[in-house]
Amino acid sequence: MLVVLALSLPVQAGEDQIVIATASATGVYHITGQAFCRLIDVPCHARPSEGSVANLHNVRNGDVPIALAQSDQQYYAVEGQEGFADVGPDDSLRALFSVHSEPFTLVVRREAGILGFDDLEQRAVNIGNPGSGQRATMLQLMAARGWTLDNFALVNELPADQQSLELCHGNIDAMVYTVGHPDLSIRQAVDLCNAALVGVEGDFVEALVDEAPYYSLAEIPAGLYYDDQPEVQTFGVRATVVASEATDADQVYTLVAAVFDNFERFTDFHPAYSVLKPERMLKDGLSAPLHEGALRYYREQGWIEDANHEANDAIEETATD
Ligand code: GLU
Repeated sequence: MLVVLALSLPVQAGEDQIVIATASATGVYHITGQAFCRLIDVPCHARPSEGSVANLHNVRNGDVPIALAQSDQQYYAVEGQEGFADVGPDDSLRALFSVHSEPFTLVVRREAGILGFDDLEQRAVNIGNPGSGQRATMLQLMAARGWTLDNFALVNELPADQQSLELCHGNIDAMVYTVGHPDLSIRQAVDLCNAALVGVEGDFVEALVDEAPYYSLAEIPAGLYYDDQPEVQTFGVRATVVASEATDADQVYTLVAAVFDNFERFTDFHPAYSVLKPERMLKDGLSAPLHEGALRYYREQGWIEDANHEANDAIEETATD
């Protein structure tokens, strides 16, 4: 009898499953998607994917309602540049908020004697799988350095969850990953075969950061992966959450409200979130306009001044510290 009653309850509007495309099942995007789902009390699923570039295409095509994406790739999708040049500007892309910083991270076999980006010349390098953010950022960095794939002896295109083993088997000398820290696959490479983190520095990196609003210089703290690991200087992006204009506004509102209403619980899910400030999350790394479901929540909180949708300066004094 109870079962019959439960089955006969109407499905409430906005209670369809919320699906969030992440990236590799072992990366920080997936932890982020899972954390969102833990905070939401309607059905919610974090779905692994190829990564940022694939996610942005899938959001545009309507295959995925909500996704994680790097800030540089969000910018390119909005502008119709780089990996999005073929499809043109995406006027339907909307932003919800940004999350953690993702330093571009170069991990090497110690025996390979690689001390910086320039030492990758004529080496075996995993540049990341098609559709991933790390591959797209690597291609930007290579262009800034004046390199093509021909500058490497061997180019692999493995996804993030396979590259540590490939490195430790000696099949590649280096791998790159645009990811929040600490990350499990980098930890795996360090634990399995004493892999090392190497800086990505130089005039070409500074020029790249100077030219692009979505890049900034970044550091990976000393000692994060191994005792004698120095502070690593590199550059990076932000993880952002995006949706389509067509994504249900109630779903977006539910997600945004769950994260900001439970902000301390959210930031406990991963150390990379510990420095997050709500006021910055509404602005940093966002190139697309805010989604109407997110705007509804930000307006209710008094965090957005209307008309131009600028984040209200008042939030900077009142937001959670
Ligand atoms: N930044 C990566 C990408 O866009 C994903 C990193 C992660 O999984 O945490 O593909």
